[in-house]
Amino acid sequence: MAHDETRRNFLHRSGQAACAAAIVGTGAVLARRACSGDAWAIAPNRCVNIRLGVTGADKVCSSCAEQCVLALSAVRAVNQHDRCGRCCICPAYFDVRSQVGPDGLPTKKLCPRDAIIRTPIGEIDPYDPLNNFYEYTIDDEKCNGCGRCVMECKDPAGLGSIRLEVRYDLCLRCNQCSIAQACPEDAYVRVGPQPAPAEALEGGHA
Ligand code: SF4
Ligand code: SF4
Ligand code: SF4
Repeated sequence: MAHDETRRNFLHRSGQAACAAAIVGTGAVLARRACSGDAWAIAPNRCVNIRLGVTGADKVCSSCAEQCVLALSAVRAVNQHDRCGRCCICPAYFDVRSQVGPDGLPTKKLCPRDAIIRTPIGEIDPYDPLNNFYEYTIDDEKCNGCGRCVMECKDPAGLGSIRLEVRYDLCLRCNQCSIAQACPEDAYVRVGPQPAPAEALEGGHA
C-alpha cells in the first residue's frame, strides 16, 4: 500500500512537472494546452449559427473559424445524413440568392471554401430536376467551421441536419481556448475529460 501511494505521488508530481516544463519551455502555443485534458464542445442551444430562431446571412458568427489557434480550425461542419432532406436545391450548398441558371439552379455555391460535395442519389431524371435527390457531404480537409451552411440549413429553409462540432482528434484542448474567449454567446464550453456526446448538450434542433 505504502509503495502504491509513493508511486501515485511520484506520477502526480511528474505530471505536474511535465506540464510546467511544457508551459515554460515551448512557447505560447504549447502553453495554451490543457494539462487537465478537458475537452471543449459547442452548446447547440446557444451557438447563434445552430440554435433555432436566428436566421440570415448577416447573423452568421465566424469566430469558430477565425479564432482557433490552429491554422485550420478544429471546428468543422458535420452533416447528419439521417436528418438531411437530400434536397435538389439545398440552401446550404447553393447560394439561393444568386442568379438562376438555364438548368433552373442557382449559379453560385454558398460555401466560400467549396467544402460541400453534392452527389446524386440514384438515376437523375432530367425532365423533373426537383424530383432528384442528392447526398451532401462536408469535406473536412477544406471546411474551417465558418458556420454559413449551418445557418442556412436550419428551419425554416432546412431541416437542421448540418451542425458545427469540435473535432476532438484535432483540438489541442488549450487551457484558455481562444474561441471560448471570443464566443459572443458563451456557447463554447468545457465538457470534462471525455468528449460529450452531442445529445448530452441541450440541443437547439430537438
Ligand atoms: S462551415 Fe463554412 S467552410 Fe465548412 S462547409 Fe459550411 S460553409 Fe463551408
Ligand atoms: S482549445 Fe485550442 S485548438 Fe481547440 S478549438 Fe480552442 S483554440 Fe482551437
Ligand atoms: S464562437 Fe460561439 S456563437 Fe460563434 S460559431 Fe462558435 S460557438 Fe457559435
